[in-house]
Amino acid sequence: MDVEKLLNAGRIERDALKLAIDVTQEGEEYIEIAERIENFIRSRGAEPAFPVNISVNEVAAHYTPRPGDTLKIPPGSIVKVDVGVHVEGYIADAAVTLFFDEKHRGLALAAWRGLEAALSTARDSVSLNLIGRRVFEAIRAAGFRPIENLTGHKIERYELHAGKSVPNVPAFEYRFVKMKAGEVYAIEPFATPGSGVVVDDEWSNIYRVVSTRRVKRSKELTGLLQGLWRKYRSLPFASRWVVEEGLGDVEALEELVREGRLYHYPRLVERSRAMVSQYEDTVIIEKDGCRPTVGTLELASELIF
Ligand code: MN
Ligand code: MN
Repeated sequence: MDVEKLLNAGRIERDALKLAIDVTQEGEEYIEIAERIENFIRSRGAEPAFPVNISVNEVAAHYTPRPGDTLKIPPGSIVKVDVGVHVEGYIADAAVTLFFDEKHRGLALAAWRGLEAALSTARDSVSLNLIGRRVFEAIRAAGFRPIENLTGHKIERYELHAGKSVPNVPAFEYRFVKMKAGEVYAIEPFATPGSGVVVDDEWSNIYRVVSTRRVKRSKELTGLLQGLWRKYRSLPFASRWVVEEGLGDVEALEELVREGRLYHYPRLVERSRAMVSQYEDTVIIEKDGCRPTVGTLELASELIF
């Protein structure tokens, strides 16, 4: 692992989140927000590790504007901006919650407390079950419920979800699964006053290559697939990017989904359509604790307190 590159990704991510806090305003177009953040990341010599996710109100995760998207940040909403940066495959994954009505402050605080509890527990040899328990307790103590079917995840080079998950609730099956020094994790508690479960909704406009096997009957689709693999490997990408770069159109992407070569992520929505908050940081596990590469808690504390 190249710690320097990982920390560099974290620093760029931190500045990208600061920009996100600045540009995410009521009435602003999603597409404007996403493109400004993504272009900022590129201007720093890094690449987005996945499209900027803008998830509003009951949407918990997985929405990026489609080409020509006209959605705007609704007044009084609560908005999760989830940003990924990679430097030669070394990834920082972090998210902040912004809110445009005081009534959401407590909900935002609950997710912040969840992340705080997780980061103060994470260290070498600690079980992932204990992390989940601590997150659960912190969010419950703040008066909300964690989302039980969304988790953090181990990260490896060019691999956003590298096997182990970090639960946000006590999870018996993780009792003997431990964090180890040198491992990298994205930790991301979600809080809600609702059911605590997300379900698949409509589409996200976010795709990922799952098979590079050529498409027999189509040279064009095979060429597109090869181009996508070269550029993004197995990292998620936006239909927006594909269209902007002239690689292909949305219909071709959907054709590749039907052929089993791409995965199109569904939007994840709180089952009872309740509001959702989230904070996330990417940390390096050390012997006696963990090292946040982004510093989301500190960055967000001025929003919340
Ligand atoms: Mn994320
Ligand atoms: Mn993540």
